[in-house]
Amino acid sequence: MSTYWNTRTKNLSPYVPGEQPRDRRFIKLNTNENPYPPSPKVIEAVQKAADERLRLYPDPECTEFREAAAARYSVKPEQVFAGNGSDEILAFAFGAFFESGAEAYPVLFPDITYSFYPVYANLWNIPYSAIPLCEDFSVKTDHYKIPSGGAVFPNPNAPTGIPVPLADILSLAGYLGAVNKALVVDEAYITFGSVIDGGQSAVPNINDHPNLLTVHTLSKSASLAGLRFGFAIGNEKLIEGLRHVRDSFNSYTVDRLALAGAAAAVKDFSYYDEIKRRVVATRERTAESLRSLGFNVLPSAANFLFIKAPNVSGRDLSAALRENGFLVRHFNKERIADYLRVSMGTNEEMDAFLKACGEITGRA
Ligand code: PMP
Repeated sequence: MSTYWNTRTKNLSPYVPGEQPRDRRFIKLNTNENPYPPSPKVIEAVQKAADERLRLYPDPECTEFREAAAARYSVKPEQVFAGNGSDEILAFAFGAFFESGAEAYPVLFPDITYSFYPVYANLWNIPYSAIPLCEDFSVKTDHYKIPSGGAVFPNPNAPTGIPVPLADILSLAGYLGAVNKALVVDEAYITFGSVIDGGQSAVPNINDHPNLLTVHTLSKSASLAGLRFGFAIGNEKLIEGLRHVRDSFNSYTVDRLALAGAAAAVKDFSYYDEIKRRVVATRERTAESLRSLGFNVLPSAANFLFIKAPNVSGRDLSAALRENGFLVRHFNKERIADYLRVSMGTNEEMDAFLKACGEITGRA
């Protein structure tokens, strides 16, 4: 805090990201990164882009990526927006579509969800209302059919990993559309669910719902958290709204290297299908092993599990795992304080993790 800060800055309560250690070597299961490397074609594209052209500004339209994504998702390039990570796009979406000021209806999101949403709402001075998850930690979209300024949630939800049925999402989009409000579905982890049941993307439905924006990231499924690249797919008018906000802020949010890498990533389905398959297989195996150790494991369609030990608090388990060289994410929040969010590592890393869990809980 400083006397030079304005009132707005003093009133912010920023998001705190998971730890990125620079000293000790940990097995990092705390920020939902992908344990496998990005496609070799991505590395090659980034290396090729690292030349004298870096003196030039990048393409503010992100044409190469938007055309590649349009082909990949069977939409028009005008229905694609590219940004510096999906966090940036979510921040723009709050600013573009949800009304500010004390008289505005609140934007709705789950009480247990991505903890950046209330931060964006506060930043833009948007009133919000947190809708409690059901007893089983699922999102019931009927609870969002009340007067509001719009709604946002991840599918699957984070940190629970539980998917929201597509039919429910579309029904809510219809309800909100009838009152001219936007629905933002944050599909950060959608890829990891489509292999099995649950987790179905709303992208094919954007033409039926002009108020439905889907937000995506290359950080998780494309192993590119370090590149900072996200994108949104929705009706042309929504995309135009995002650009309106972006261009009131920074015309060049995506740099040349990220643009080249992202375009290569979205084209290389076969590589990414294979690593997704591996992550999902590891998740299923890890969930089963944890259940046999007596853990409660929520049914996840993401690249992480939300787990509760039979006899150790969330705080203590997190601390003990850290002692053993594992970083996981603990949220000190009502209802979930005894849960930990554990990102999927490689099979070897998860074997070591399971061994540590068995030892710590005395169930080995
Ligand atoms: N949405 C959700 C639900 C997330 O968990 C994350 C990752 N922290 C993001 C969006 C942001 O991802 P990124 O900015 O890396 O694209």
